Amino acid sequence: MRDLDIRLVPVLNDNYVHLIHDTATGKTACVDPATDAPVIAAARDWGWEISHILVTHPHYDHTDGVPAILDAFPGAAVYGSRHDLGIIPKCDHGVIDGDVIDVGAARATVLDVPGHTVHHVAYHFADAHAVFVGDTLFSLGCGRLFGGTAEQMWASLKKLRALPGRTRVYPAHEYTNANADFALTVDPDNPDLQARADAVLKLREAGEPTIPVAMDMEARTNPFLRCDVPSFMAHLGMGDGDPAKVFAELRSRKDTF
Ligand code: ZN
Ligand code: FE
Repeated sequence: MRDLDIRLVPVLNDNYVHLIHDTATGKTACVDPATDAPVIAAARDWGWEISHILVTHPHYDHTDGVPAILDAFPGAAVYGSRHDLGIIPKCDHGVIDGDVIDVGAARATVLDVPGHTVHHVAYHFADAHAVFVGDTLFSLGCGRLFGGTAEQMWASLKKLRALPGRTRVYPAHEYTNANADFALTVDPDNPDLQARADAVLKLREAGEPTIPVAMDMEARTNPFLRCDVPSFMAHLGMGDGDPAKVFAELRSRKDTF
């Protein structure tokens, strides 16, 4: 397994910018820089030279830091969906599903995971068991539909859920506690969810992040990943329904929660 040092930088109200440092080569990737100053400061503090900027989608709270980070670390390569070239600031490497990006000795595979936005990618470091999912998947929740369809989002969530269970999930926001409140209203009898909600509350009270979280934990506790689980579908009264419709129903309930 590659020796990757992954650290998060909390910025704005609830965003995380993730820094991925390959200790073998010193190469460092920065995921979804919502802003610049705290990211540059953290990298300098740790002696890390940012060589790659990986953007999941073009919302400002994932891209605003790109220009100033490039000024601070000239030569860093900026990656984003090929469809968002010209939209993501300074993005010079358009990627599509299946592309690979080498960050030193570590390799990321691009996964197309549309739904939150019409184009959205995730970066999967398979050897390091880590996936950077932007606003597609949150712990105990998922992104709102700001461009894609419920069908697309459900397909994207299933694709992420199919990654190995030990994969650590790194979303771009700390929404877990609020997501737990909603999740418990739709899946109140799920003991794994109850335990996770308690653990999340304790982490937040201690000022700690609730991520990363293992994919197998998310698969058991996140209602948006359970839209095809028969017992959960039956509990919602949609037992013989289409999982994408179950997803759409959950998403619309959460939108007004
Ligand atoms: Zn977004
Ligand atoms: Fe966001």
